[in-house]
Amino acid sequence: MIRLEKVSYSYPDGTSALENVTLAIKKGEFVGIIGKNGSGKSTLALHLNGLLKPQKGKVMVRGMDTRDLEKLQGIRKFVGIVFQNPETQFVGRTVEEDLAFGPENLCLPPVEIRKCVDTALAETGFEKYRYRSPKTLSGGQGQCVALAGILAMRPECLIFDEVTSMLDPNSGAAVLKRIKKLQRKGKTIVYITHNLEELHAADRIIVMEKGRIILEGDPESVFSDASLQNLGLTLPSLFELAVRLKAHGVTIPWEKASSPDCFAEEICQLFLKK
Ligand code: ADP
Ligand code: MG
Repeated sequence: MIRLEKVSYSYPDGTSALENVTLAIKKGEFVGIIGKNGSGKSTLALHLNGLLKPQKGKVMVRGMDTRDLEKLQGIRKFVGIVFQNPETQFVGRTVEEDLAFGPENLCLPPVEIRKCVDTALAETGFEKYRYRSPKTLSGGQGQCVALAGILAMRPECLIFDEVTSMLDPNSGAAVLKRIKKLQRKGKTIVYITHNLEELHAADRIIVMEKGRIILEGDPESVFSDASLQNLGLTLPSLFELAVRLKAHGVTIPWEKASSPDCFAEEICQLFLKK
């Protein structure tokens, strides 16, 4: 549904941010993108709904070329992006106004706009904040409103660029849970993060380095790839532990490294067998 073909992009100051990136994102997929700071993740995200246009190659969103100005509104309706700092995305004086902004821009009739806003408030459980200024919300609440604002436009595909990195672990986990629920409802998700822990259940992980895709695969194969450590990316601690145990001849199946409970159970089983 989104296809990048040999995309290259340099910023006006000459910094090369993407080099020859080819990538296809399928409907309903949960794709994780990881990589060091400056590896080109955000630049890639901005290409997915036409906020940036490729200088070489092309980006096709459901058959629409992002360089085609006439298609831009259709593309933006189809692909929504949520960024790291929700406060930079707020445009309304109240949460309600903020949520209405996207649908208004899509020129929906007022009755439809009201419906979008009410649904967004109900889905997030934020009715009580309807008349609050979004700037007065906590980081986690703000991120939920930013998400609701994008959802009000009913996109098929959602891009999240390090949305949990400024949040405390509990708020971060709550936001990620909402995002996973969206995928179960059929949305396509592209999830950019530093925290590999969050990608255990991804369908596919893409690793970026210096504007290129250097590794791609399911979480198990990507986490097991030795080149990941060379990039300075930290493996989830349970997976790291499983790797160390393996060096001692103890094999913990991948799926058991998904939670401390499963891991502990597996270790106990191994002990009891002896
Ligand atoms: P990431 O999201 O992985 O941290 P970015 O896509 O933000 O990486 O950045 C890729 C490269 O482009 C980096 O070298 C960064 O310094 C550069 N860059 C990003 N935004 C701009 C900009 N507005 N102007 C010039 N260079 C930029
Ligand atoms: Mg970034």
